[in-house]
Amino acid sequence: MDLFYGANPPLSTSFHGSVVSNGKYSYWLLSDGKKLPLGTITETPSATPAEVRKRRYQLLYHAKKLLPKERIAGCLFKRVDAAQGVKVLFNKARNKANYGNLQRCANPWACPYCAAKITESRKADVKKAMDGHLATGGYVYLMTLTNSHNASHSLKFLKEGQRQAMRRFMGGTRVSRALFAALGKQHHINAYEVTHGQNGFHPHHHVLLFVASELDQEVLEGLRDQLAAEWINCCANAGLPLPDMKHGLDIRSGRFAADYVNKWGLEHEMTKGHIKKGKEGGMTPFDLLRDYADNGNAQSGKLFQEFALSFKGARQLVWSRGLKKLYKIGEKTDQEIADETDNVSEELFTLDQEFWIPLNRQQRTADLLQYVEEDPSLQKAMELVRQCLLNEHKIPILDG
Ligand SMILES: [Zn+2]
Repeated sequence: MDLFYGANPPLSTSFHGSVVSNGKYSYWLLSDGKKLPLGTITETPSATPAEVRKRRYQLLYHAKKLLPKERIAGCLFKRVDAAQGVKVLFNKARNKANYGNLQRCANPWACPYCAAKITESRKADVKKAMDGHLATGGYVYLMTLTNSHNASHSLKFLKEGQRQAMRRFMGGTRVSRALFAALGKQHHINAYEVTHGQNGFHPHHHVLLFVASELDQEVLEGLRDQLAAEWINCCANAGLPLPDMKHGLDIRSGRFAADYVNKWGLEHEMTKGHIKKGKEGGMTPFDLLRDYADNGNAQSGKLFQEFALSFKGARQLVWSRGLKKLYKIGEKTDQEIADETDNVSEELFTLDQEFWIPLNRQQRTADLLQYVEEDPSLQKAMELVRQCLLNEHKIPILDG
């Protein structure tokens, strides 16, 4: 079987300036005032918040089916305090309903609900650090690292090998330390990602390199080639199939770094059947889950399972020491982010198990929140609870 070397876009020209977003569009603001579009943020189909929530709950239901023994199986289902019912909370100012006294699994890789929340929070942190660094006159490059692979390599094998190779490479071999110093690297943020394509799983790292200032193109290309050679050494040391000089390591300009951060995590937001099939880079894990949920593709379900089990506990973002402190970014855990609720919501009512379980079995828990938001008299919500209870006696009981 041929080895696949990954698909890193070519090194591009670099631009001075910073990234600016007006919520809808983001652009790279050049020092001479010119704007370069970075693409719209609205690559996501426009969906209402209620539709987005419903889609997340629906995908969560399918992820649970694939991962019945994992913590995700109890996400937004099991109660925190089993002596109490499930609380239905309502934030008047935002007209937003939510559940209280429910466990959140905080799985940033596999849970469509928790991952969206965690990513949103982490992304704001990354932006803050990046903007802070650019504001002091620094520059940020985007370095991409991968090794070659094909469909015969398990994700576990690739992940373990890359973990060792990355630790060596970023932690600093004598050579990589000297090269990073020549680059002017002060800090970095390492983001871990996986896609799946015809050559199997493609785990790769995107590293935001916070450097003192932008380098001359020729100097940068020279350093990149030396870093690529050292990365190949680190892959060899970890027993990984070796990448070649062209594909293992790439460094792109600040525009790409900004664009990358802007798009990071948007994949959770896609609410409709947006399967990126055939596209360069393959399908993301949530594409696989969507393919399983929407098209009943069992193979995609299996791959999602393999991904979720292999990546359990892996860190999505790794910040170099001192960077968070430098820009006053807090040290929240994924669980803390997932469990965050506003403290202005009022408790409307509580659902005992006899009502809560039918709502879950019939996948109507997102609808209940929507009805609470649509009808403050709660008539619509109460009718749904009643209907689910009635239906419960007509449908076969499933484990859950
Ligand atoms: Zn979850």
